[in-house]
Amino acid sequence: MNEKYYVCTGCALLCDDIEIECDGYRISGVNSACRKGVARMKGCQDPLACSISGQKADIDAAIKEAAEILTNADNPLIFGLGNSTIEAQKKAIEVARRVHAYIDDTSSFCQGPVIEAILNGQIRSCTLDEVRHQADVIIYWGADPANSHPRHLSKYSYFPRGKERQRGWEEDRTAIAIDVRHSDTAEICKDHFYQIPPQADRELIDALTSALSGKVPKVSFGMESKKILELASILKKAQFGTIFVGLGLVYSLSDMEPLIKLMDKLNEVSNFHLVPMVGQYNMRGADQPMFNETGYINRVHFDTDPTGADVTRHGPECSAVELLRSGEVDAALVIGSDPMGSLPRSIAEHLLHIPVINIDPCKTQTSRNAAVTIPCALGGVESGGSAIRMDGVQVELPVILKSDRLSDMEIFDRILEVL
Ligand code: SF4
Repeated sequence: MNEKYYVCTGCALLCDDIEIECDGYRISGVNSACRKGVARMKGCQDPLACSISGQKADIDAAIKEAAEILTNADNPLIFGLGNSTIEAQKKAIEVARRVHAYIDDTSSFCQGPVIEAILNGQIRSCTLDEVRHQADVIIYWGADPANSHPRHLSKYSYFPRGKERQRGWEEDRTAIAIDVRHSDTAEICKDHFYQIPPQADRELIDALTSALSGKVPKVSFGMESKKILELASILKKAQFGTIFVGLGLVYSLSDMEPLIKLMDKLNEVSNFHLVPMVGQYNMRGADQPMFNETGYINRVHFDTDPTGADVTRHGPECSAVELLRSGEVDAALVIGSDPMGSLPRSIAEHLLHIPVINIDPCKTQTSRNAAVTIPCALGGVESGGSAIRMDGVQVELPVILKSDRLSDMEIFDRILEVL
């Protein structure tokens, strides 16, 4: 990466061509980023302050209090991490091991199953740079990157001219949208928009798998067999195809098996890859260090067995959602996430009854109810480190601004010192 360019941490596309105008303390201009990115780079409207029980506190006292809460809890939970650097995520795992905590990130209720299938080698993936240079057939399935990842189509997947796609989107690429609604991305795909009813993705996957095997497919929701055969024919002719999987598809499947079967069939007759449309800038990073250390991407409990020996447990019962629903946890450290503002009230409510430590650059609904709040520097702006893009490529994050606030990694380091 050229030195004058910075990385936007507004989403997991991690655009690395951002130009910044600043005086070292304040960003006055952001060029090349989308509106979402500009808002992220310009920082919080309402920065978080350091506090204990709602009263202003200094950082040493807040860290000591946080360490005490974690030590005194029988079943602490560490949750969030999708907006933290890899270095902070590794330290969070260390803290979780030390206090025998549950640890989970937001991938456990969104793109986790797709990321897991890729890391386990069950689904073939590719990089966004390969897509830019080689892809001739692109499918956005249950995804609307025109809004969720605004530079996805222009920087990588549809509009750019690549080494092997010199004639660009006009002649060299076919973009297909499969969705329950006519999204802005579907509008761009024009005649290649396939509208399906909610929860019909599994049926379309099965029909498409049949069509790729040369059988006449049938579906119950009114799409003509001819249309499915036409789609299968485009996919068969692809030289380099990529499916970008959004939450619309993930949420409608009870497991990954149909998708794995479709990818296997596609790779018998063609050349296909799959990339998850990860939202938070380093959610994929949260999963990879955990996978490397434990063999699981999320929903882990660093427990002890009856003899007192350390054991690593894993399963749906270790997910943050389940633990909050059942009331199993008695303290929580939430970093870079806002479960009080984003999870259903029936689940998040338990956080009102236990001590919560919140580490974040900005005030959130969770920080307003936390026993301890610790402000951290904004990743990719006020603190550096590394992150993993939605396609699995590691990206270094240079620092743009000086800050008095500790980075998320330094905060975990300080907690580890006190524990
Ligand atoms: S697409 Fe994502 S990473 Fe790129 S500039 Fe916009 S918010 Fe930032």
